[in-house]
Amino acid sequence: MAQDQGIRARKSENFSEWYTQVVDKADLADLRYNVQGFIVHKTWSTKILREMIRLFEAEMEKTGHEPVLFPSVIPEENLKREGDHFGFVPEVFWVTEKGAGEKLEKKLALRPTSETAFYQMYSLWIRSWRDLPMKKYQTVTVFRNEPVTRPFLRGREFIFMEAHDAFETHAEAEKQIEQDKENMKNVIWERLGIPVMFFRRPQWDKFLGADETYATDTLLPDGKVLQVGSTHDLGQKFSRTFGIKFADKEEKENNVWQTCYGPGIWRIFAALVSVHGDDKGLVLPFEIAPVQIMIVPIFYNDDDRKAVMKKCEKVRKSLSEYRVQIDDSGKTPGEKYHHWEMFGIPVRIEVGGKEAAGDFVTVYRRDLMLKEKVSDKALGKHLEKLPGEILETLKRKAMAYMDENIYSPKNRHDFLRDVSKAGIVRVPFCGTEECARTIQNDTKGTKVRGTSTEKKEKAIGNCIYCNRVAKEVVYMAKQY
Ligand SMILES: [Zn+2]
Repeated sequence: MAQDQGIRARKSENFSEWYTQVVDKADLADLRYNVQGFIVHKTWSTKILREMIRLFEAEMEKTGHEPVLFPSVIPEENLKREGDHFGFVPEVFWVTEKGAGEKLEKKLALRPTSETAFYQMYSLWIRSWRDLPMKKYQTVTVFRNEPVTRPFLRGREFIFMEAHDAFETHAEAEKQIEQDKENMKNVIWERLGIPVMFFRRPQWDKFLGADETYATDTLLPDGKVLQVGSTHDLGQKFSRTFGIKFADKEEKENNVWQTCYGPGIWRIFAALVSVHGDDKGLVLPFEIAPVQIMIVPIFYNDDDRKAVMKKCEKVRKSLSEYRVQIDDSGKTPGEKYHHWEMFGIPVRIEVGGKEAAGDFVTVYRRDLMLKEKVSDKALGKHLEKLPGEILETLKRKAMAYMDENIYSPKNRHDFLRDVSKAGIVRVPFCGTEECARTIQNDTKGTKVRGTSTEKKEKAIGNCIYCNRVAKEVVYMAKQY
């Protein structure tokens, strides 16, 4: 038997251990690089991430964003210019020397995020209303001095997409925020099948420097929520600080209105692994799988081998529009099945002696763990509908889990019972930071995620916790 023992933890019983094993065994990351908190992305995760980035970039460009690449260093003076944004300083890695210990004149931050790099340049690029809107984005890595790290959830260097937009009016900025939310939904839910909820974050939990923060959360199998994207209304705060001004149609000078948006690629990947995965390993949506169809030849002697391989090649040729491979390694068929199931390959085609002699193949679906015989003639049509069907299965399962884990307790007693379980609670709330902090302390970390931006929900009665008059309906959960 090969060394590969598969996943030995159950997702429903010990999610954390299951996740650690999937990351290791499905070739996602190697944590042994000798700088703590920095991971090596292995081939399988790199390929999946590349497909995901492609989806997001296409969506960005559909809404008028253009790509750029900014330097990874930001001078200290830029980073500290906007008062609230200054709060990023404890999270920053600094470059302070060059060569053989020569001190740099300007201390340089390894970008934790790039507002203060982009906006210095926007102050040079934007002159008149004709330059607006300006919508640029980049896909890069950023650096954060995180005390505790976990692959794809929290890291000291991670993949990041950030869009920075400037407008003539606040109304246009607000429209952009709606578009950003659509963008997230179109990819995270529609293409990757990960259910999301949209919240307006409370004032005490905004992005540093933003007027308003809107964020997207999903629910992981251990009942904690994970923020997978956010978009921020920056108002004119940065444009005042950085002097980003434009002459309007009457030649009057104004500050631009700004938004910044970032789908959290790394965390969306973590959600993809966690939400769809099962006890055998990854389960990937067809569209982003690095190999969509794996053909596995089954033979026990050289005579069979020839006929079987011939049929495998024929099948592969007929499926050239997909990412398809033949596994002709020396492993046994069983080992191959097991291995590629762990890697989440959505479709397997088995070709043995019977298939080679007959006019059919055996098709296995990873999402349903189901085998069926499909005639050679019908194979093309059969595969055409599989990507959609597989995505539907993943969506249905994931949404059912999310729905089952949203509670609406009616009183403080039930609230305390529900937050001690996994999941999200929806409750009337007084809207004060003080009450939010008390809840957080009393419940081992339950936090206010915000008010829904999808549903208009009116609070009735009193705050679930402090009994003062409720001002809003909020969602609370423990978080990553
Ligand atoms: Zn309260």
